[in-house]
Amino acid sequence: MNRKTDTPTFLPYTRHWLDDDDIAAVTAVLRGDWLTSGPATTAFERALAATTGAREAVVCSSGTAALHLACMALGLRAGERALVPAITFVATANAPGFTGADIAFTDVDPDTGLMRAADMRAALARDGHPARVVLPVHLNGQVAPIEALSALAREQGLGIIEDGCHALGTRYTTRHGQSASVGDCRFSDATVFSFHPAKTIAMGEGGAVTTNDAALAAAMRRARNHGLVHDAGDFTDPAQAYEHDGERRPWYHEMPAPGNNYRASDIHCALGTSQLAKLPEFAARRATLMARYDEALQGLAPLVRPVPRVADCEPVLHLYPVHIDFARAGKTRTEVMQQLRARGIGTQVHYRPVHQQPWYRRQHPDLALPGARQYYERVLSLPFFTAMQNSDVSRVCNALREVL
Ligand SMILES: *Cc1c(COP(=O)(O)O)cnc(C)c1O
Repeated sequence: MNRKTDTPTFLPYTRHWLDDDDIAAVTAVLRGDWLTSGPATTAFERALAATTGAREAVVCSSGTAALHLACMALGLRAGERALVPAITFVATANAPGFTGADIAFTDVDPDTGLMRAADMRAALARDGHPARVVLPVHLNGQVAPIEALSALAREQGLGIIEDGCHALGTRYTTRHGQSASVGDCRFSDATVFSFHPAKTIAMGEGGAVTTNDAALAAAMRRARNHGLVHDAGDFTDPAQAYEHDGERRPWYHEMPAPGNNYRASDIHCALGTSQLAKLPEFAARRATLMARYDEALQGLAPLVRPVPRVADCEPVLHLYPVHIDFARAGKTRTEVMQQLRARGIGTQVHYRPVHQQPWYRRQHPDLALPGARQYYERVLSLPFFTAMQNSDVSRVCNALREVL
């Protein structure tokens, strides 16, 4: 790779990686005939389906749009509940909420931050509207216990949408010993990805939903384009669609239900395809950095511990979070972050429990989720991105040792 993006002296917690061929791919679209949804969008969808192993990929304008499209296509609506883990980016809760549905937050494993079947069961048992969908999050790039969650979802008649925004490229082994890929949807209706520059591959702004359900894919393609239908097979009003001689009226289209403009442009999709081709290299680089961190941090235990790894999972980590015993270190998280920053090292907290955001706290004033609280109180994301050097890992760990 010829690195366009030099590692700056200040180490941010995340950063994209762009090469000259990424820039060339975008420029080629700018010189062509299509700017928005055209051949580059179709090509990106094919490449994503091939990479994830799903039958269909529907590309759209962001991961948030992807979540909303999947919820709309599954028919989520007001008077129903969507189950969302408390530790995630706010969009995992907001997007199902756009349908009018209520959000029921589930607790998470205090160590990994992942939703467990018991957390889902506890949320189902709470009062509220009937639950309709569950949205497990593959936090940090590690796979949630998807087989157990899926079995419970199927038993309870819920749809299941995996939030794979952190986990493009993550592989895992199923109970039956099969090799699976996040996004292949073998245990779900759909999987959602984001290609925001903070994530493993960048398209500027963009996202996608993968699915094996052709009807669901068709519903999402409609919903991302204002709800408009152009295929004769889907018309509901033939008297309006055809002339008396049976000729289809060339301008005719229908809108059975309103959608949104969640299209991705060909400009963005060209970047997406170009970046996706580098995923194997990005994944290898992230695996190396993860192993370096794991080793370098051994000397800092028990004050600092990497977030524990999930069994039977080969993650492409999006973040490198650690748990820090701040009480034992005698410093607040703010002090640690500031003192690392003074040494040129950026860190971040992923995430503040979403049910404690003012909007959701008003709706769930008494909700206590101890696993989420324990995860949140200890967590800190260290710098982790493809363009990092191995020596940056030592720099971070030495600074952490000094500060603590
Ligand atoms: C980034 C992210 C999203 C939203 O993606 P955008 O492309 O930023 O809209 C949703 N869920 C998770 C877990 C994310 O990290």
